[in-house]
Amino acid sequence: MIFSSGSSVDADFDDAAPLVAVTGGAGFLGSHLCDRLIADGCHVIVADNLSSGHIGNLQHLLEHPRFQFLRHDVTKPLPPVFGRATRFYNLACPASPHQYQRTPVDTTLASVLGVWHLLALAEQTGARVLQASTSEVYGDPLEHPQSESYRGHVNPIGPRACYDEGKRCAETLCFAYHLERDVAIRIARIFNTYGPRISAGDGRVISNFVMQALRDQPLTIYGDGEQTRSFCYVDDTIDGLRRLMDAEIEGPLNIGNEKEYTVLEVAEMVLRLTGSRSRLEFKHLPADDPARRCPDIARARSHLGWEPRVGLEDGLRETIAYARRQPVTT
Ligand code: UDP
Repeated sequence: MIFSSGSSVDADFDDAAPLVAVTGGAGFLGSHLCDRLIADGCHVIVADNLSSGHIGNLQHLLEHPRFQFLRHDVTKPLPPVFGRATRFYNLACPASPHQYQRTPVDTTLASVLGVWHLLALAEQTGARVLQASTSEVYGDPLEHPQSESYRGHVNPIGPRACYDEGKRCAETLCFAYHLERDVAIRIARIFNTYGPRISAGDGRVISNFVMQALRDQPLTIYGDGEQTRSFCYVDDTIDGLRRLMDAEIEGPLNIGNEKEYTVLEVAEMVLRLTGSRSRLEFKHLPADDPARRCPDIARARSHLGWEPRVGLEDGLRETIAYARRQPVTT
């Protein structure tokens, strides 16, 4: 069912199943989380303004009796029905540098005001709030791998600041509400995640490489391609978030894959798995692009019993198969 913000939403929920709210539920991660929550028997209500998410990601859930979608901008107070949720997953924010750098004001406000409205509501209702934070809180890290105790190396006025500092402030607000007002919080620092449904125009490296390879276009390598990232398959990330929500630890906890790859290695793997004839094209490295990124997940291992299961090659096969099934666009 779809509602617009402002329409009267008073859903007929079955009290036997918990009501879980997902802000940003039409995004790549959010839509996979909704699938998982529905499979777990929850009622799910999504708020998303569709600025970077796509309703198509939720198409298969729209008629589900335990699912509702509300088009809503999280910088505004949530409609009353959200007061009935016992759990909030806050995923509402554009996450691709390509996207968030085009709307830095909206990106900052989505992080800061978005979580503020959730926390204020949770203070009244006793709901638990899981904040989707990010490896970007570590900036261009000087410690490697990054553990949760590392405080980061972030440029507060650079092109990535709207996302990095927005998410850092969101963590601050979560802990402020927890310490001063006893709100139950969980903070996940999510590292690069990929998988089916990552949008073709997303601009992130795996999306770009897969689409470029399938179209036999040059794979765009920014800089010399020696910078590293650690890529976590979406099912693993969602499993980590579900476990953290139910665990007795506020966090922050890193959720990511420890296996580190250079961008060049990813390009070569995508070419091999697609059988593409694309060549590599070297482009300018964006400002403040982190040189290395890799999570230390010891905390998630010990507190959640969680670790990633899907390796990059297997995950890329799934992602490529999904991309091949999509209608051809230019
Ligand atoms: N990158 C690249 N080519 C692309 C897109 C990204 O070489 O077409 C690089 C980018 O410069 C960065 C890494 O891949 O070093 C990961 O970028 P992405 O935008 O996926 O996410 P980030 O980890 O930077 O948020």
